[in-house]
Amino acid sequence: MFRKIATALLVTLGLAFLMPALSAAPASAAPLAAVRTIYYDAGGAQEFRAAVDEGAAAWNAAVPAIRLVPASGSQATVKVYADNGWPRTYMYGFGRAVIYMGREAVDDGFYPPRIAAHELGHALGLPDNRNGRCDYLMSGHSSPVSCKSTTPHPTEAAQVTRNAGSRVPALTAARQLQYADCYVF
Ligand SMILES: [Zn+2]
Repeated sequence: MFRKIATALLVTLGLAFLMPALSAAPASAAPLAAVRTIYYDAGGAQEFRAAVDEGAAAWNAAVPAIRLVPASGSQATVKVYADNGWPRTYMYGFGRAVIYMGREAVDDGFYPPRIAAHELGHALGLPDNRNGRCDYLMSGHSSPVSCKSTTPHPTEAAQVTRNAGSRVPALTAARQLQYADCYVF
């Protein structure tokens, strides 16, 4: 009887001591930068498959906190297709998106690997930034067609690093973000 009470007390006391320690742990521990692996399926990107791989490689080189890995099937949270419209991205949360490598921009002379890197930027949580500069990926359609850079600007890489570390909630289909890359929208 007494032993039972004593045990119960010990357990309660033990929990009472443990709880603050547990809750304090995340604040005091150094944040561990876990690499976020994002699988993308470029199987539907047709003639742009290599361009998508090149765009993904550019992001991997610029942001050590993420790793874009080609995959097929349900494992992939980023799906890339090709069609005759404008390049665009439907974004459902960090690393969750459907991308269309639209041929209209390619027909206008834009460089496919740069288009892919731009659209992947949307999948990684970056909005359009139409500042006309070639050293920014998210300048997209506002940069000159002669621009062949696939390297994210340091501020873009920094933002994706922050996005990778934050718990960005997944968006439902109704709350998707849509980025259409032409001047009409
Ligand atoms: Zn865009």
